[in-house]
Amino acid sequence: MKDAIIEFKNVSYKYAASEENGAEKYALNNVSLKVHEGEFLVILGHNGSGKSTIAKHVNALLLPSEGNVYIDNLDTKKPDNLWEIRKRAGMVFQNPDNQMVATIVEEDVAFGPENLGVEPSEIRKRVDGSLKKVGMYEYRKHAPHLLSGGQKQRIAIAGILAMMPKCIVLDEPTAMLDPSGRKEVINTIKDINKNYGITVILITHYMDEAAQADRIIVMDNGSIITEGKPKEVFSKVEMMKRIGLDVPQVTELAYELNKGGIQISQEILNVDEMVNAICQLK
Ligand code: ADP
Ligand code: MG
Repeated sequence: MKDAIIEFKNVSYKYAASEENGAEKYALNNVSLKVHEGEFLVILGHNGSGKSTIAKHVNALLLPSEGNVYIDNLDTKKPDNLWEIRKRAGMVFQNPDNQMVATIVEEDVAFGPENLGVEPSEIRKRVDGSLKKVGMYEYRKHAPHLLSGGQKQRIAIAGILAMMPKCIVLDEPTAMLDPSGRKEVINTIKDINKNYGITVILITHYMDEAAQADRIIVMDNGSIITEGKPKEVFSKVEMMKRIGLDVPQVTELAYELNKGGIQISQEILNVDEMVNAICQLK
């Protein structure tokens, strides 16, 4: 396996007390985590479990109260590393409208590399290349606010790609999208991971999205409570329910069938696998 591109070493993070959020509180408790180059990692957990706090540590928007985060072996706590870290790790957020900064798509995508001081001819190449990667090149002269939610998120992803990062963290990028927008964005994320080797951390509430990851970590109350391949994590139906998470519907069906005495594989993630398993029943 390749080296870890992202490493959390015993990271705890404490938010200061505020009027809005009450007393000071640990949002992360001693989290250790390695993400390998080229990996597609999903983070699951109910609201308030610490997922966004993890995401914000990856590009040094937050610094650990205790412990360390290393991006490509660069310690996020060293101020001199900040630019190098932001070049390597891009973030995409939930609300596409908050991420648009320009009135024309290609200017929006150029914003990141411009800020990095990339020279104009190189920016041109990167903008075109990034828009092609997310399938939005023919929209380059359009106004972002007229696009659909899924298209806007693909533009946001293109804007990150134009900075040529090694990893992208997406914090519930599909939460505000309709089913077809979700599909567009997930396919784009999978494509940049598989075909361009970009390491992906995806935070999502959608189990069908999580099922496509190489690995899932599950957060509860600021700690990682389990991790593994999707089949491993989702086979822990009782544990997932206990912490308020679902598993894919077909996985739950397999679980219920087993409880009812029908011996069917417990490692079913999609309809095709369910059909195969049912056909093999005697
Ligand atoms: P998630 O993304 O899994 O919903 P977060 O990482 O946003 O969780 O939050 C983890 C915990 O930290 C929650 O209890 C939340 O209330 C708290 N928290 C998040 N942001 C702040 C903040 N700016 N100030 C104080 N507490 C916060
Ligand atoms: Mg969050």
